[in-house]
Amino acid sequence: MVKTADVVIIGGGAIGTSLLYHLTEKGVRNVVLLEKGLLCAGSTGDSAAIMRQHYSNEVSIRLVKKSLEIFQHFPEMFDGAEVLHNVGWYFLVPPEATELFRDNIAQLKRLGVRTWEMSLADAAEALPGLNMEGIGCVAFEPDSGYVDPHGMASAFAAKAKSKGAHVYLQTPARDIKLSNGSVSAVVTDQGEISTPVVVNAAGPWAKVVGRWMGLDLPLEVTRESEIVARIPADIPPVRHSVSNMVDRTYWRPERRGMLLVGVGHPKENELVDPNQYSREVSRDFVEDLTRRLSHRLPSMEGAMFVKGWSGLYTVTPDWNMILEKNPDVEGLYLAVGGSGHSFKISPAIGLCMAELIVDGAASTVDITSLRGARFTAQTHLSSTYGGNRA
Ligand SMILES: Cc1cc2nc3c(=O)[nH]c(=O)nc-3n(C[C@H](O)[C@H](O)[C@H](O)COP(=O)(O)OP(=O)(O)OC[C@H]3O[C@@H](n4cnc5c(N)ncnc54)[C@H](O)[C@@H]3O)c2cc1C
Repeated sequence: MVKTADVVIIGGGAIGTSLLYHLTEKGVRNVVLLEKGLLCAGSTGDSAAIMRQHYSNEVSIRLVKKSLEIFQHFPEMFDGAEVLHNVGWYFLVPPEATELFRDNIAQLKRLGVRTWEMSLADAAEALPGLNMEGIGCVAFEPDSGYVDPHGMASAFAAKAKSKGAHVYLQTPARDIKLSNGSVSAVVTDQGEISTPVVVNAAGPWAKVVGRWMGLDLPLEVTRESEIVARIPADIPPVRHSVSNMVDRTYWRPERRGMLLVGVGHPKENELVDPNQYSREVSRDFVEDLTRRLSHRLPSMEGAMFVKGWSGLYTVTPDWNMILEKNPDVEGLYLAVGGSGHSFKISPAIGLCMAELIVDGAASTVDITSLRGARFTAQTHLSSTYGGNRA
């Protein structure tokens, strides 16, 4: 293991690997990524990884637009690696949210997102078998869909390694040493790495990492379940990603005739300890999800559930990430609090954090509104629909 580094990143999920890649692109060669498990061992590996651009705050829209551009150019950038499944994304919205929805669509269009409201008749045609009852409006994004999280993270890490970065898997960071209030080293079981810069990208464990330096980061960890079901052979194929605000579900195609399904917000958060929670899905969850899904897609009634799992969201008070050069500890950067929607913006977050570290400010997207100080200054980011539908 190296003894010194210009930057040490803690966490090999979507955010950490994206940052690693973008730092090497900016010429930082002696950069280390420490991952306590394998790549994508945390939230990233459990993610539905649905790609949509329908955000309601400007910074998220700009981040997701840039991320989509990176996903679209992935094959050229990463030796043919194709990670974006551009199957399109539909958003089903209840009538009571119509006004907010239309304001959002107008803002998205103004910021250059290719999206529009569809007529209900067109939506019914595009989504065969969909029960249209209770749906007020439908948005469509032709450029969206879903992404392969393992493909993305491994491509970022491999390219960074080819440029000299060091990736240490199954190597937990145990502590961060400070000298006169500044970061000086990261402690591992294989020894210490001296470094002036550490990035906390530890996902659900970010709060623990913060505590090493006496920080109490405003993060909570919640348990989130998903299921994969076999699509019956005799029904029209389900080809698109869908976020269904009407019944609070989402789904997207999974390989080999399968559908990945989860429950959306608003819902009660189940707070858990990231080191001690059930990875299983509960019977109640399966029953509830079956009921909601077969109401909206009646042909899925009786569909065979193949597998399910529970992963973790790391949630901030306003459900948006904290991205910053930390004001309390010199040399510490935070890229924490994915809040259940930050896989899709991780390419741009890595780029912006690399700019912040190397140039002193992010130039691709102004991320200053995502500094943690917003929680003490009471300048939380607002979002139209709440929860992870930021
Ligand atoms: C069920 C589910 C569905 C989701 N669906 C979507 C979706 O459809 N679209 C979307 O955009 N987002 C979605 N998300 C959210 C998205 O997956 C996360 O916001 C994103 O993956 C967070 O990435 P991360 O790199 O911050 O965290 P993580 O992926 O958790 O990475 C953190 C890494 O740090 C490592 N680590 C922790 N502590 C240490 C240590 N001390 N030393 C070394 N390594 C350490 C962990 O092992 C982990 O691999 C979903 C999340 C879940 C759980």
